[in-house]
Amino acid sequence: MAEIQRVLVVGGTHGNEKTGIQCVRALNRNIDQFSARSYTLETLLANTSAIEKNCRYIEQDLNRCFSNALLNGLPQNIEQSRAQEINKHYGPKGDNSATDWIIDLHTTTTNMGLTLVVHQNDKAAIQMAAYIQQRVPEAVIFYEDRDPAADNFLGSIAKHSLLIEVGPVPQGLLRWDIFQLTQTGLFHALDFIELYNTGEVPALPEVLLTYEFIEKLHLPRDKAGEICGMIHPAVQDKDYQQLNPGDPLFITDEGETICYDGDEQVYTAFVNEAAYYDQAHGLSLMRKKTLCI
Ligand SMILES: [Zn+2]
Repeated sequence: MAEIQRVLVVGGTHGNEKTGIQCVRALNRNIDQFSARSYTLETLLANTSAIEKNCRYIEQDLNRCFSNALLNGLPQNIEQSRAQEINKHYGPKGDNSATDWIIDLHTTTTNMGLTLVVHQNDKAAIQMAAYIQQRVPEAVIFYEDRDPAADNFLGSIAKHSLLIEVGPVPQGLLRWDIFQLTQTGLFHALDFIELYNTGEVPALPEVLLTYEFIEKLHLPRDKAGEICGMIHPAVQDKDYQQLNPGDPLFITDEGETICYDGDEQVYTAFVNEAAYYDQAHGLSLMRKKTLCI
């Protein structure tokens, strides 16, 4: 029996990321083309309330509601209820999950191109990311190091998961190039699962260059906590660029440059992500990491 039986493609985990929603609807119209595959393909629009209102979430980011604690507690808001509903239908999170693989489609307002987010313990997903990168060389692999029980991402309720993040695209609208790039990543991912099931995965590189998340940095804020500066022009649109101690990073409203004051060489990601503004974050810092697969 094939190892991967049930695959779920998810869009609209964030309600204003229209590309993933569009990909799911397009897939629904053409789902017959996958009927001969060795697995069952299903789709889900995750945060339906937020999709209706064209906003990221109503009360809480749905993609932070899938920790064991939140899935098993009394739901406190609309997203926590929705997470429990999704977990009941497609999980339950853990070794007995009814879903073997979740591919969750996201977009970013930043210039990150095609980014593939994988989890450290998910060897099959790391292989999937390597397979996609072999076919789309500009794809970047993000490596996350989270404890599975505390992992609060939607993908964590399946046995394997890949999060596809594509940008730049503003929230709430569609662009053909971003739609196409997302679909390209998605279709390679679905092809990979077929090859995985039939034992026909081609030779993959033995060493993979990935980026590991370190931390998010706040934008400059004044004494009242209001944002009083922005991303420095030298860094704007420069995702996955080297950032050295002393390099320009932010610029205040008055035009004063604020330099990076860390003590190690790092890399930028999610530079000026619109979704970061609710907590006044300006970007993420990453570390390069090579993985053996
Ligand atoms: Zn998202």
